[in-house]
Amino acid sequence: MIRTRFAPSPTGYLHLGGARTALFAWAFARHQQGAFILRIEDTDRERSTPQAVQAILDAMAWLGLDYDEGPFYQSERMARYRAVIDDMLARGLAYRDYMTPDELAALRDAQMARGEKPRYDGRWRPERAAGRAPPTGVAPVIRFRNPDAGSVVWDDAVKGRIEFANAELDDLVIARSDGTPTYNFCVVVDDADMQITHVIRGDDHVNNTPRQINIFRALGLVPPQYAHVPTVLGEDGAKLSKRHGAVSVMEYEASGYLPAAMVNFLARIGWAHGDAEIFSRDELVAWFDLAGISPAPSRFNADKLAWVNQEHMKRMAPEALGRSLIPYLVRAGLDPAAGPDAGAVAVLLRDRVSTLVAMADAAHYFYRTPAVPRDGLRELLTPAVRAGVTDLEQRLGAVAWTREALGALLKAVAAEHKVKAGEIMMPVRWLVSGTGHTPAIDAVLALLPRETVRARIVAGLASV
Ligand code: GLU
Repeated sequence: MIRTRFAPSPTGYLHLGGARTALFAWAFARHQQGAFILRIEDTDRERSTPQAVQAILDAMAWLGLDYDEGPFYQSERMARYRAVIDDMLARGLAYRDYMTPDELAALRDAQMARGEKPRYDGRWRPERAAGRAPPTGVAPVIRFRNPDAGSVVWDDAVKGRIEFANAELDDLVIARSDGTPTYNFCVVVDDADMQITHVIRGDDHVNNTPRQINIFRALGLVPPQYAHVPTVLGEDGAKLSKRHGAVSVMEYEASGYLPAAMVNFLARIGWAHGDAEIFSRDELVAWFDLAGISPAPSRFNADKLAWVNQEHMKRMAPEALGRSLIPYLVRAGLDPAAGPDAGAVAVLLRDRVSTLVAMADAAHYFYRTPAVPRDGLRELLTPAVRAGVTDLEQRLGAVAWTREALGALLKAVAAEHKVKAGEIMMPVRWLVSGTGHTPAIDAVLALLPRETVRARIVAGLASV
């Protein structure tokens, strides 16, 4: 069975790149009917915070990235790492290195002076240290005995064949002098213990992979398959950062994007299925394959996200869209119970806005009596138009309360008062909504209660 994992370091919010990596690992597991595991890589105690863990859990829950196992915390697995290190020491796969910081600095200086890349010279490798007494007072680090010859090759599911010469790889420190295991080592122990078959992660980890593969092999284990996903770039082609605007996934929740749209949009950053642009979570799961991931970095595009969100809003059933809108009405200070069904309002507005925040903003007059600006309205209300609107208000008392009947009445009143239909509709729009921009006014009126519409017209006319 396929087993993938998402292994975030909880040092901040879940950013778009991290969410995209999580999504790919999740979608791959779901497509393959495998398991998706969440592992919190919190060995860096100074930078890891419970708030950051919670932010990751919240963002994954919002996106609907459910996991089958975990969350596992590296901080709770220290005994296990310690045991593997002891075992590696006993088997000669790792050794204690007593080089002091001064010696390390001297080695670096000498190598740099010769124009070489600074690297550990293997002076405490068991074969070279044999018979040498460890210095007193030096707490050793523990290094993995990397192979000297040959190379590490893997067939990356995204990037193709990658090869590193072993001669380029230092003997990796797997435990610091205070005994704490290092990041690359913990990842190997975890991926092995959790029986991960596919590691899908950001390509900033490509340089770690040959070291991790060597440790797997030294332990007699078969390394997982690797898929290194290119970075998400900002619209200007630079690495995505705070200055590109919102980079935390949850900021998009706050801005009124649907989780399904966010999933669709994130999947399309660097993955494609034919020319499909708008798709559901289920379609993504049905289609997802590693072969569809582009090896080239892809850019974030805010306009595209807005478009994808609107397309999802347009495709949703009214009730579901209404349910999505309600929390945003509340956040906008509106009482959803004080107006029409949110689904009906959403259907009326969804062609005009691309986020739920904008939709809630555009919906205010359905839930609250608007302030009517008098200045513009005064100019619209010529004597003939005022007479027409006054007449209309009377006849609203008896008309059938449907969009069709209201539309017909607006036109009839305009004709009888010898003005254009728009000359009646525009002031009615202002009087009822407090704005000059609404969906078709007959549709707006039909959603509001008859007495509300009449009262707003009467009050507005009286104030102008
Ligand atoms: N904890 C690492 C990160 O957040 C991911 C490591 C991995 O996926 O192997 O970048």
